[in-house]
Amino acid sequence: MWDFSTDPEFQEKLDWMATFVREECEPLDLLFPHGGDPYDVTNEAARAILRPLQEQVKDQGLWACHLGPELDGPGFGQLKLALMNEIIGRSYWAPTVFGTAAPDTGNAEILAMFGTPEQKDRYLQPLLDGEIVSCFSMTEPQAGADPKEFVCRAWRDGDEWVIDGEKWFSSNARYAAFFIVMVVTDPDAAPYERMSMLVVPAETPGIEIIRNVSVLGERDDLDEGIHGYVRYRDVRVPLDAMLGGPGEGFKVAQARLGGGRVHHAMRTVGVCSRAFDMMLERAQSRRTQGEVLGRKQSVQQTIADTWIELQQFRLLVLQTAWIIDNTPHGTARINIAMCKVAMARLMHDVIQRALHLHGSLGTTLETPLAGWWASVPQLALADGPTEVHQGTVAKELLKRYDAAPGLFPTEHIPTRLTEARRKHEVVLKEFGL
Ligand SMILES: Cc1cc2nc3c(=O)[nH]c(=O)nc-3n(C[C@H](O)[C@H](O)[C@H](O)COP(=O)(O)OP(=O)(O)OC[C@H]3O[C@@H](n4cnc5c(N)ncnc54)[C@H](O)[C@@H]3O)c2cc1C
Repeated sequence: MWDFSTDPEFQEKLDWMATFVREECEPLDLLFPHGGDPYDVTNEAARAILRPLQEQVKDQGLWACHLGPELDGPGFGQLKLALMNEIIGRSYWAPTVFGTAAPDTGNAEILAMFGTPEQKDRYLQPLLDGEIVSCFSMTEPQAGADPKEFVCRAWRDGDEWVIDGEKWFSSNARYAAFFIVMVVTDPDAAPYERMSMLVVPAETPGIEIIRNVSVLGERDDLDEGIHGYVRYRDVRVPLDAMLGGPGEGFKVAQARLGGGRVHHAMRTVGVCSRAFDMMLERAQSRRTQGEVLGRKQSVQQTIADTWIELQQFRLLVLQTAWIIDNTPHGTARINIAMCKVAMARLMHDVIQRALHLHGSLGTTLETPLAGWWASVPQLALADGPTEVHQGTVAKELLKRYDAAPGLFPTEHIPTRLTEARRKHEVVLKEFGL
């Protein structure tokens, strides 16, 4: 059965969220606008505003909705989460207010899936309660898109693992209470069995943040960003710091990355919808040559194309969420990759058009548009570059096809015409054809 409706009870929740995000979360975006602000647990002023808002979200039963009941979450499923994330995505702070901020969401998921009872007590619970933030430390300076190139290693020394190497773009390292670090533990094993995950408390001796790398739109200072360039020098953790088994690093990483990508896509619908709202308001307000912009045909084309692309993407995301909810694990792989490729393009096109329609104002820091624009390149890279996901989509599709059985394609008209003639030979003869 196909059904595109939202049940009325849940729609009430969504309506509450829409008002709450606009009135309560967006002011935080204005007061504490820097990339790392939602993660900076030492900012007492921001926390004093944040905590009561998080309590309101909990009272509504909307806290940490990415976790299913098996992981102690409310278990709304991905489809409802998609509808929620469309609203949450409209504000930079909203994911933190709703307990669904990356990378903590993914880290919580893998701790819930693979963690020992002790790891869950120590790391998962305070993470879910929003008391601490965490860091996922996988990418390296010399290798990102292909984890088989990673070299940061760990070896056993008595009853400890010893980590040595560098990681790059470990987001929120400067604020994190713990790091989940992907390390090579068995360099001679098959490529996908070489790595393991270790959970490392931030206070462990030997962790050095070489630089807090800044990205476009975040901060001007080279060392004032949130993406840690981290050196692990002789960092020692007990054997039970491993998350999952030895050699299961890829498996653990994969378990968090799919969800992270599709949640980004859901939130992208939110950001783009907000930019679209701005575009329409501008088209109705700004006058040129005796009429508002919205009366110009080229502006109308831009509005129509943007709405069509936004709705196409939204349906792809909702369908992907539905597939995750209703089919065996792994079935949605191709759809998640499709969302990942499409979201960076959509964001690029929608924000560019909205910014352009705002003229010089669009290029300033006086609307959110320039900030969103600055984040476009990151969207095409974080959680893997576009090309890698295009590869996933294409390879999955290619598996469904075989080579043509003969010299010509199966759609070759002369060959098919001969077959058609043979099939209806008797009738054709009867009519002299
Ligand atoms: C905002 C942001 C946050 C991030 N947060 C984290 C984090 O918290 N933890 C973490 O570990 N990492 C994080 N990353 C790193 C992210 O995972 C990597 O940027 C990503 O995997 C790509 O790796 P790379 O940057 O080294 O690019 P590279 O691997 O060097 O790729 C560069 C380019 O090469 C091309 N390319 C690469 N592979 C292929 C291929 N197979 N086929 C064709 N072309 C290809 C593409 O054009 C690609 O854009 C973050 C990145 C960003 C931008």
